[in-house]
Amino acid sequence: MTPFQNLAIRRFDQPIEVAAMHKALIMIKAAAGKEYPLLIGVDSFTRDQKLVTTNPSDPDFVLARFQKATREQAETAIALAAETFPAWSQTSVEERADYLIKAAAALRERRDLAVATMVLEAGKNWLEADADFAEAVDFLEYYAREALRYGGQQPVVPLAGEQPEMFYIPLGVGAIIPPWNFPLAILTGMASAAIVTGNTIVLKPASETPLTGHIFVEAMQAAGLPAGVLNYLPGSGGEIGDFIVDHPKVRFISFTGSMEIGLRINERAAKAQPGQIWIKRVAAEMGGKDAIVVDADADLEDVASGAVAAAFGYQGQKCSACSRLIAHQDIHDDLLKRIVEKTEALTVGPPDDPANFMGPVINQSALEKTLAYIEIGKQEGQLLTGGLRTGESGYFVTPAVIAGISSGDRLAQEEIFGPVLAVLKATDFDEALTMANDSIYGLTGAVYSGSEAHLQQARQQFHVGNLYLNRKCTGALVGVHPFGGFNMSGTNSKAGGPDYLRQFLQSKSVSRKIQVRPADS
Ligand code: NAP
Repeated sequence: MTPFQNLAIRRFDQPIEVAAMHKALIMIKAAAGKEYPLLIGVDSFTRDQKLVTTNPSDPDFVLARFQKATREQAETAIALAAETFPAWSQTSVEERADYLIKAAAALRERRDLAVATMVLEAGKNWLEADADFAEAVDFLEYYAREALRYGGQQPVVPLAGEQPEMFYIPLGVGAIIPPWNFPLAILTGMASAAIVTGNTIVLKPASETPLTGHIFVEAMQAAGLPAGVLNYLPGSGGEIGDFIVDHPKVRFISFTGSMEIGLRINERAAKAQPGQIWIKRVAAEMGGKDAIVVDADADLEDVASGAVAAAFGYQGQKCSACSRLIAHQDIHDDLLKRIVEKTEALTVGPPDDPANFMGPVINQSALEKTLAYIEIGKQEGQLLTGGLRTGESGYFVTPAVIAGISSGDRLAQEEIFGPVLAVLKATDFDEALTMANDSIYGLTGAVYSGSEAHLQQARQQFHVGNLYLNRKCTGALVGVHPFGGFNMSGTNSKAGGPDYLRQFLQSKSVSRKIQVRPADS
């Protein structure tokens, strides 16, 4: 295989790209309301209870209807995955990697369709949706190559008289439970990593974005993946999540989402169920309260651009989003002025119009949560701009900057997952770093400083899984910035990094005694 390379993100500065996107948006709108049966192996199910996916810019607009899987259907899907595992686990790693490469090609053919689906279903602007798409393709290409590396013989120390070896084998049936905020990239990464390492899976997409997840399923089908390896099970996490997690035939759970659900899964998975013969493995990537620290000598224009993009890109609904800006007191006021100016220049509205930088938040409860935190922010500090509901329909809220926040305040401690930036003032760099670390989370962080000593200090002391120096804290690239945090941000899986596939594997050591036969006489 050629060496891995990240897929370039489009800027939509070519008329041909813009026209193709408009065409894709029209096509998806024209197909609105389409119903998808639940497919488990060759069996197709329909139910009265549907999982209806809508456009958050226009919540009455039904994009598609999926069947809401029941526990019985989850049982059927897990049984099929278990039945398929022995054959799939024996398929050569080269063949398994080839399915991912073919699926990456199939996805590329669906690029406009996938990007437009995310614009309409997840409320991403075109660039954010294209970045999500590129990351999904990157995961397929990267994990295909990584699987080959893990598939070979692993180094062991030689021993006279024996032939020792060590190699990796898959775990079994996995439950893959992704979030809605990177509806293609994270889902593709988690699912493809499990599959390429020889496991079979039940993939339960987030209820907000089953249509985007279905594009991954179509790409895998186009690649010719055998039935039963990937079992797509749209359904409510509240209704079938516990059942899947508790199931004795499930060997591992790969989850990305909120701390609350991640901890719940971790706790439930720890309890061995009747008939279960293993300790379940859990990878749980969870929330963040990410900070950008700004030193007294930072380039303020650069900081303001980076912080505004990191705070309000995709409406602040990234686990890596900047939700705390910690500014040295010497530059605090000047920086705030620039940040407010840039924030007020952001356009908010339906993202099918590429002129809009910010779309809606994902649903009614996200809107209510965001507005509630803005009220809390007004008590704890001063709202400098934004924080208003806007638009005729749709879950739009203008980006809010709230200054005068102290490190112990709720606005500085709790994940909001919306377009709200809390600003804290530090007396010096040491205090700024202390504030940055004053969190139960530890996902991403950034430091802008002209001081080599301060950058080195941050490198050692800023306790986050993904630290960026003199650049913003969002925008991790597969292979370049292996992604995953510390503390309540999760199990540090490092998606898109060299350690990731190990979590879907167990290692076997075999040593054969070398028979020394007496020389033939
Ligand atoms: P969420 O509410 O925790 O949901 C995540 C997934 O868990 C969804 O598929 C959900 O299904 C499912 N689920 C719900 N209840 C469950 C249960 N009892 N058992 C098993 N699964 C269950 O999170 P979200 O709102 O989708 O995503 C936002 C969160 O993800 C934020 O906290 C963000 O920081 C975090 N995140 C972290 C990373 C990272 O790499 N650390 C990356 C992206 C996002 P339903 O949709 O049907 O409820």
